[in-house]
Amino acid sequence: MLQYKVVAAFLNDAESTAKKNEIVQIIAELIKKMDKKEIKKGIYLLKGRTDADYKTEPLGIAESLVIKTLSLLSGETESEVEAQYHKTGDLGTVAEFLCKKKRQNVLFSETLTIDKVYSNFKQISTSSGKNSQNLKIKYLLDLLSSAEPLEAKYIVRTVIGKLRLGMADMILINAIAKAFIENSEEYHYVERGYNLTMDIGYVSEVLASEGINGLKKIEPEPGIPIRVMLAERAETIEEIVTHIKLPAVVEYKYDGLRLQMHLSNGNVYLYSRGGDIVTEQYPEIVEAVKKEFKTIKNMIVDGELVPVDAKTGKLMPFQQISRRRGRKYDILETSENIPVQYFVFDILYYNDQSYIDKPFAERRKVVLDLFDNMNDKLKHVNGIIASSIEEIYTFFENAVNDNCEGVMVKSISDGSVYDAGARGWLWIKYKKDYTAGLSDTVDLVIVGAFFGHGKRSNLYGAFLLACYNKENGTFETACKVGTGFNDEDLMKFTELMNKYLINYKDEHVISKIETDVWFLPEVVIEVTGAEITVSPNHTCGSSDSSGSGFAIRFPRYTGRLREDKRAVDATTTEEIVKMYGKQ
Ligand code: AMP
Repeated sequence: MLQYKVVAAFLNDAESTAKKNEIVQIIAELIKKMDKKEIKKGIYLLKGRTDADYKTEPLGIAESLVIKTLSLLSGETESEVEAQYHKTGDLGTVAEFLCKKKRQNVLFSETLTIDKVYSNFKQISTSSGKNSQNLKIKYLLDLLSSAEPLEAKYIVRTVIGKLRLGMADMILINAIAKAFIENSEEYHYVERGYNLTMDIGYVSEVLASEGINGLKKIEPEPGIPIRVMLAERAETIEEIVTHIKLPAVVEYKYDGLRLQMHLSNGNVYLYSRGGDIVTEQYPEIVEAVKKEFKTIKNMIVDGELVPVDAKTGKLMPFQQISRRRGRKYDILETSENIPVQYFVFDILYYNDQSYIDKPFAERRKVVLDLFDNMNDKLKHVNGIIASSIEEIYTFFENAVNDNCEGVMVKSISDGSVYDAGARGWLWIKYKKDYTAGLSDTVDLVIVGAFFGHGKRSNLYGAFLLACYNKENGTFETACKVGTGFNDEDLMKFTELMNKYLINYKDEHVISKIETDVWFLPEVVIEVTGAEITVSPNHTCGSSDSSGSGFAIRFPRYTGRLREDKRAVDATTTEEIVKMYGKQ
């Protein structure tokens, strides 16, 4: 059993460098020290979680509870602890300091192991009900009483969800590969495993106990969400056909919500694009699937959930569906007022067989067989096989007339596999140019804000937005946006963003601009703009903080909060650089 103090020491080391390769190396060394029985828990701890992303929320107990615990631990009053917090801006550092003081008069304490820390975290995250606050304090105090100063620092940061080094998935994937696989040509199997299970903890356990062959055997499994395949973007149809050979499939690009449906022995599970379980929100889809597929053992399909007008049956804008998300009590009522249709466009698993490595032409046949002309809840996506640019264009015009965003062009070549988790040229999106500027909207992460003026001075009036640098796991700023928000939006965003307020700049955020306040990078919004320009003020695409970066000129909020996207699903630096190159 690895002692937690080793984990803390390695985390501390990793914090002292900003170089991605060095961090990966340090974490790989740490992973090597873990026992195969505890590695899964160890990986979850590094992510600030107690289970796979899709099964649990990240840890994040209220800071006030931690302050109370630290007061109990040290004998200092809560206001003294709070004062130190204000001074340092980091409760972890406060815990470290208080533990140093406490150590002098402690005679005996338990040695903390990964197992022990994990099990208390689990108790903390699952205690609920009336007495839950006391229980959380109890389990945290139990850990901190035995903690050495550095351990206390990382325990506290983890438990409040501010493990500043909260490992980017790519860093962990690379570190796990480095720790266990000798031949670097086989590293990609780790990412493959992650793409098919959305669970790095599980993947590391398989690798540690069964080696690379165990990893290769991972296949899609009904009941476990798969990372979705994504599309590249193109500005003209001529450009599309330089990447995808005709004939190719052209489908409506619906403006809805990505939904992965799993059927397994009569049970139905619905997952959002980020892997969240949303089964309970769409009971009519669950019922429809159960009714139509009584004899089918299992399947996984991919598609888009779109709201329709209850009277006319016409497709409605995406915003309608967001009124149904997260609702607990009046689901049945909303399913009548805001009905949805599920347009299936792909199949990943069917009757005990994986389909992800089969070419799209073959997968599409199965989807057509299963879903064509089914009923008003389950449909096959509207699509054709096009052999010319003209055909694609005509279909695109139809799509726009039918309230769609544009079209998706998909390769049916031999190599057209379902590339889980990847954005590639096998699928290309072509959208109507409603932005009259950028060829596409971008989804950016809110990392900071500026207060408004005059009667808006108690609200945030503008936000600093960042794209995601997948390679480094950082958020690089791309614009400051204050346009497109009405008063109601600003109130809503002020309230929402205050939940993510921190009084330091998150370590993953790379910015040259000073804001009035900083946030944890969590919330994603959709933005359009006139063009992408080179800017000395922004860090998007400038690998070191001295060079110029790319920025969105005249950015405007489109009104769409991307609740379905996590920060790591935001538009990437790479995509913005590519958009710039195309202009
Ligand atoms: P975007 O979010 O703009 O990158 O566009 C990709 C999204 O379009 C996917 O994640 C789906 O949610 C959605 N979409 C709508 N229609 C289709 C389709 N026919 N094929 C694939 N994705 C689609």
